[in-house]
Amino acid sequence: MSVFTHVEFDHHEQVVFGHDKATGLKAIIAVHNSNLGPALGGCRMWPYLNDEQALRDVLRLSRGMTYKSALANLPLGGGKAVIIGDPHRDKSEALFQAMGDFVDSLGGRYITAADSGTGVTEMRIMAERSRHVAGAGTREALGGGVRDGNPSPSTAYGTFVGIRVAAKHRLGRDDLTGLRVAIQGVGQVGFSLAQYLKEAGAQLWVCDIHEANARKAAEQLGAQVVGQNEIYGLDVDVFAPCAMGGIINPQTLEALRAPIIAGAANNQLADAGLAEELRRRGTLYAPDYAINAGGIIDVWYERSGGSEAELRKHVEGIGETLREIFVRADSEGRTTTAVADRLAEERFGR
Ligand code: NAD
Repeated sequence: MSVFTHVEFDHHEQVVFGHDKATGLKAIIAVHNSNLGPALGGCRMWPYLNDEQALRDVLRLSRGMTYKSALANLPLGGGKAVIIGDPHRDKSEALFQAMGDFVDSLGGRYITAADSGTGVTEMRIMAERSRHVAGAGTREALGGGVRDGNPSPSTAYGTFVGIRVAAKHRLGRDDLTGLRVAIQGVGQVGFSLAQYLKEAGAQLWVCDIHEANARKAAEQLGAQVVGQNEIYGLDVDVFAPCAMGGIINPQTLEALRAPIIAGAANNQLADAGLAEELRRRGTLYAPDYAINAGGIIDVWYERSGGSEAELRKHVEGIGETLREIFVRADSEGRTTTAVADRLAEERFGR
């Protein structure tokens, strides 16, 4: 297994392998770039089949965090940690204490946070061993009360702001009354996004593999529930993916009619080349790592102790960034993802 010649290696500053015999911890931390500040990124726990898979993931994801934080105008670099293990079987307090020690050994060059397979509980354990843990839940919540470390409401708000900007850019609409939006997945982010949209007067269609989630959106927000496959072909203004990645692919593209794709899900494009196809068709695609940055902004404010008003204003900056991406993409005849990458690189100084 090579690192420096790995296909995902992109001049990462540090790639550190950590092992603790007593707890069985096997983990990798990658710091991709720290030009703008310490590298913040989640700690993923996943039953990787081998070390190579884990390395690939940590290299790819840490690079993505550099771009995401730069686009979000945060004083942060990009990093990520992966733990090789099954989150349903291999978790223990001792394992996460050892992981906390591993994070601490980088002396603050890497700040960890929750990701797939980890959550506030694990962050709290790691925080016992290291100061360099974000999202353990300390700050006041947006609506008051004690903060639980869940960044989803901020992610939803940023996505809402992004949809507003996309509607203005693509449809020339200043207000969202009557805007037709199809939301795929009404979980933590999708439901909260639906609430914002409903308040703004939008008409909603939703689907969810958990029927109860879809029903809740119908009962509480008057959303129309549709089937999992039906969601793509709806005659709507916005398709908002808020479930899983890879859902923009050649099959779904054939059905998709919405002139705008703007949602919170990570890695929406099954293949980067599809951005060009979307551009050709005149579909405005809000790059996922730009529009869903509310979460990382939230985690940063929890850590840095900024006020709710400052957090809200910063999340609203996602709109400005998207506007710049959309305008540049039009004037340069390039895809929104190519422009977003370039903008991030300008910001982090590559
Ligand atoms: P979640 O698990 O709370 O919600 C996802 C919802 O999608 C669930 O209700 C689930 O039942 C539904 N779903 C799953 N597969 C589906 C399918 N095939 N069709 C329809 N519905 C389906 O997750 P979340 O925290 O709301 O995150 C949603 C997406 O946004 C994920 O891709 C996540 O990576 C991304 N994201 C989340 C945050 C955050 O702050 N939570 C930040 C950035 C990105």
